[in-house]
Amino acid sequence: MNQGKICVSICADTVSKFIENINKARGQGDLIELRFDCLRKDELNAEDVESLRNTLAKIVGGESYPPWITTFRPKSQGGERELSDFERRNFWNVGSETEIADLEEDMVDDSWSWLWSERICSFHSFAGVPDDIESIFRRLVQTQADIIKIAVNVGDATEAIEVWKLLDNSSVRVIPIAMSEPGKWTRILGLAHGAPITYASLDEGAETAPGQISARDLRDVFRVKELNRETEVYGVIAGNTSYSLSPYMHNATFKQAARNSVFIPLQVEDLDKFIRRMVKPATREVELNFRGFSVTNPHKQAIVRHLDVIDETAQKIGAVNTVKVEDGKLHGYNTDAPGFIGPLKELYGDLKDVRVAVAGAGGAARACIYALQQEGANVTLLVRDVAKASALVNGFEIKVEQLTTDNRPLSTDILVNATPLGTRGPGENDTIATADELLDVKLVYDLVYNPAETRLLREAKAAGAKTLGGIDMLIAQGAEQFLIWTGTKAPLDIMKAAITERLSKTNAG
Ligand code: NAP
Repeated sequence: MNQGKICVSICADTVSKFIENINKARGQGDLIELRFDCLRKDELNAEDVESLRNTLAKIVGGESYPPWITTFRPKSQGGERELSDFERRNFWNVGSETEIADLEEDMVDDSWSWLWSERICSFHSFAGVPDDIESIFRRLVQTQADIIKIAVNVGDATEAIEVWKLLDNSSVRVIPIAMSEPGKWTRILGLAHGAPITYASLDEGAETAPGQISARDLRDVFRVKELNRETEVYGVIAGNTSYSLSPYMHNATFKQAARNSVFIPLQVEDLDKFIRRMVKPATREVELNFRGFSVTNPHKQAIVRHLDVIDETAQKIGAVNTVKVEDGKLHGYNTDAPGFIGPLKELYGDLKDVRVAVAGAGGAARACIYALQQEGANVTLLVRDVAKASALVNGFEIKVEQLTTDNRPLSTDILVNATPLGTRGPGENDTIATADELLDVKLVYDLVYNPAETRLLREAKAAGAKTLGGIDMLIAQGAEQFLIWTGTKAPLDIMKAAITERLSKTNAG
């Protein structure tokens, strides 16, 4: 266990909802932050502040809760409403020894240190990382506050290293926060590297700042309090990590195996910069102890030029979805191919000379074609743009046909959907084929895993075909990754339970 604390941030516009949320936060974290600036002006008259504090103290302190953090942040610093300086000074004139005050730079001098158990001096930049972040930090240190908190918005995982470096190089206690999805790694790894606090939301959808992670996920999925500098760090490198199931799947396996490992989201736009500044030993500016990556859209091809070693399967497919970091060297693999073929062979049996039609011409389709040809299947590619696809399937001896919607039965034994059609969202009811077209098809395999049963699979069932959904492939390719990274077999049931739980939670909302 590290020394850091998870702080659940509470925001509500009325006192009654505020109190309701405090009660919900019980047992969720080590601290709570009361965002008084969220309360409507008519709910927080100056004369009421003290009586409100007394009420809150009874609720919180009555249960021997640890000190809470009091925050009264003006809009210019990310607060919920405009606050006059007069209002703020009045507010900070009343304190209690059990409270930690979270003050802006201009209020530290006006607050009495003896009124508070500790004072945090916080600085927020929603416009990105300021060029003069180091001088801002030095200024904040001079306020003599007990803890310095710097939160900046980032658009790429790599930008977050500017705040992270403050933590690594500082003799005072620092909470470095990179806000938004690409900055999540700072919220997960902060405590392991000496940050005293990481902020969490009460639940998903109740975030009080961009990129906040729920207290439950920080504690149970990422196990942030158990991490330290020796923790082996893995992550998913993707253009958008917000829907990724990989952190849930891989952290569940690490937890079950009692490994000192964590799997984090790494939302990366500029891959070259990320590899240079965060990964390669000769050029990296932070030491996070990366041991491996899942790589997904749009970086599966681009990652290849950064590898020191590439395995034969990945080379033939021309795409890498798994990287192992060993002695500073990057080794690339493709686990989509074995992850795809394993569940199919289990359900269908021998694939020699079996006719398989694969719809789509992206990275997943290439892995499917490679794996099917290894098994001796007779593969046809179905695409919407034949000219474009011909170049993509270069290197594979394969027929390419136009994907049609003319209701004629498809003449194939197996149909694979390697397009995103049918994925949860606006296009959920889209399908590459209807029941009429599937009458002669024996098995339909949809790589889409959310929803677990797509429209295509329902059409296949109506036509009497066997069905296979994308979750089996997701687990099988993830299990291959776990084997590559750790040399041990993955617990498939744990992976499946983690994915099912996560999907049911996100789809319930
Ligand atoms: P990708 O590289 O973006 O390729 C998507 C392909 O689908 C492209 O060839 C695209 O055609 C085609 N496509 C898109 N919309 C279409 C439409 N309306 N009609 C016909 N074709 C369409 O994506 P990917 O990485 O190959 O992944 C494809 C799907 O497989 C995704 O849904 C992904 O989530 C899923 N997948 C699942 C797993 C798993 O473990 N279950 C693993 C990998 C991928 P154009 O080339 O003409 O744009």
